Amino acid sequence: MITLALSKGRIFEETAPLLARAGIVASEDPETSRKLIIGTSRPDLRIVIVRAADVPTYVQYGAADLGVAGRDVLLEHRAQWGEAGLAQPLDLGIARCRLCVAVPEGFDYASAVRRGARLRVATKYVASAREFFAEKGVHVDLIKLYGSMELAPLAGLADAIVDLVSTGGTLRANRLVEVETIAHISARLIANAAALKTKRTALMPLIDALAAAAEATT
Ligand code: ATP
Ligand code: MG
Repeated sequence: MITLALSKGRIFEETAPLLARAGIVASEDPETSRKLIIGTSRPDLRIVIVRAADVPTYVQYGAADLGVAGRDVLLEHRAQWGEAGLAQPLDLGIARCRLCVAVPEGFDYASAVRRGARLRVATKYVASAREFFAEKGVHVDLIKLYGSMELAPLAGLADAIVDLVSTGGTLRANRLVEVETIAHISARLIANAAALKTKRTALMPLIDALAAAAEATT
């Protein structure tokens, strides 16, 4: 049995067409089903539905052989837990966005940085933000949030946020402007390193098929 870890929402929605190209269809839709283990048209392949940030953990411990996770999630996971046991990051080219610094319209970010001001930055991406500002030599106080980062500057919790942006619509709706790009993000296929050896004959054709599907659709 091969176990593939996916998260609901964007990751599942954008991985499903790649699986379909590889001839694999999930037997239920995780958006409407309450099941957390979903069969597929391939009797030897099942999908486990986990939180986006938990995908690397399932794969690292071998509870899933494969997983699809955003590069944002992988960067944070690696900073906190290391990447022992994780292998084969394959860029699937899906769920594309960028990790950015954004501030309220009218906040003079450039001059705050020039003055060496201490910035309060709210984010879910504490490790990536810390590394980015340290490299720039900007002093920051990081405030960990679990969601709705856009609210933080509006509510007076922070001067800036570090968050994912794709179209910029959410930023605009909250009168925020993007001032820095930290990283370009897309989703990656990751594998459990031990499974890649012990289940190689089962996993490699699937990995190759997903790589080909990603290649064909991007
Ligand atoms: P949870 O809902 O469990 O808190 P989450 O909010 O990170 O997790 P999603 O919003 O589904 O879950 O995001 C999953 C992944 O999709 C992210 O890790 C990122 O790689 C990618 N992603 C997030 N926002 C965007 C976006 N605006 N455009 C494209 N891809 C995105
Ligand atoms: Mg979300």
